[in-house]
Amino acid sequence: KPVADYTKAQAKQTITQLVTQLNQWRTEYYTNDAPSVEDHVYDEQYRDLEQLEAAFPDLVSPDSPTQQVGDAVNPAFNKVAHDIPMLSMGDVFSFDELSQWNDRLVKGLDRSIDYNVELKIDGLAISLVYENGKLVQGSTRGNGTVGEDITKNLLTIADIPHELKQPVSLEVRGECYMPKAAFASLNERREAEGAPVFANPRNAAAGSLRQLNAKVTAERQLATFIYTLVEPERFNVTTQHQALAFMQSLGFTTNPTAEVWSAMADVEAYITRYTADRDALAYGIDGVVLKVNDLATQTALGNTVKVPRWEIAYKFPPEEAQTVVHAIEWTV
Ligand code: NAD
Repeated sequence: KPVADYTKAQAKQTITQLVTQLNQWRTEYYTNDAPSVEDHVYDEQYRDLEQLEAAFPDLVSPDSPTQQVGDAVNPAFNKVAHDIPMLSMGDVFSFDELSQWNDRLVKGLDRSIDYNVELKIDGLAISLVYENGKLVQGSTRGNGTVGEDITKNLLTIADIPHELKQPVSLEVRGECYMPKAAFASLNERREAEGAPVFANPRNAAAGSLRQLNAKVTAERQLATFIYTLVEPERFNVTTQHQALAFMQSLGFTTNPTAEVWSAMADVEAYITRYTADRDALAYGIDGVVLKVNDLATQTALGNTVKVPRWEIAYKFPPEEAQTVVHAIEWTV
């Protein structure tokens, strides 16, 4: 029912129910790599919760999923602190909502804005730390401030450089994913062995990466697209587009589809193009990300507790529902 029809007592009851349900789904998804519902089911209930919390702000509890990134880390892994948190991302589900988001930013800044428009890769976020050009630490996002040390696993991924083309010390972040072909053959093999198949490439990637035995990861043919340069000012990089080119020059794999656009009509054309081309890509995407291209403007806009104010994900409508048995692969 519409939010306006809720009494406070009703809102409290519904919020409690939504928080409990969503947190259960989050544990299944983030901690166990085995979701029991499709993403759009989660997204719809998350949206309901957001709207109720916006109408009744004093009912927002600290354990609400709107206040948290990811979920608890697996205690079997060493912990890695993210001094600069790895955040989540706000999302919109229509061109109307996207335009409204852009309008608010344009109004706030009082000028037009260039966006680096990128594909939203359907995998999981990783952080890679290099010292003097050598990979010294790799980790998951975890709960945003504490992630899991998966250095050994990441060292098995073919496109992650062990050594950079320049002896620089830096941190980059990006997406680790399982290409569609690797996902199909993995599930075929698992089916033949009588093992449960993975629900989708995202969960297969997460399950394959968060393994205590790095040999399992090595067999899974994972790949990466790197998209964030941490502390870009140290390298005289001033835009997100330049950051991608710089990271590529160091030896990272960046996604080649990024384009800079300002007008929403151009952004919509990009989204329409990739909505149509989506199936032809070798990797899964679940939307398109707009990032304010100028990095100083990003810093000025800052973050909420959960998401940067300078970026937004346009999420594609759900694909045809598939009947799947979900694989549970415990990493402990
Ligand atoms: P998100 O996945 O919607 O967005 C943030 C993430 O996008 C980043 O951490 C990064 O990993 C990824 N990303 C991909 N391409 C990127 C690019 N080009 N630039 C920057 N980041 C990029 O946010 P989230 O908080 O990780 O997850 C929320 C989503 O997870 C929900 O919208 C839902 O669909 C899904 N989820 C599903 C369930 C379930 O039970 N099915 C449970 C929890 C969450």
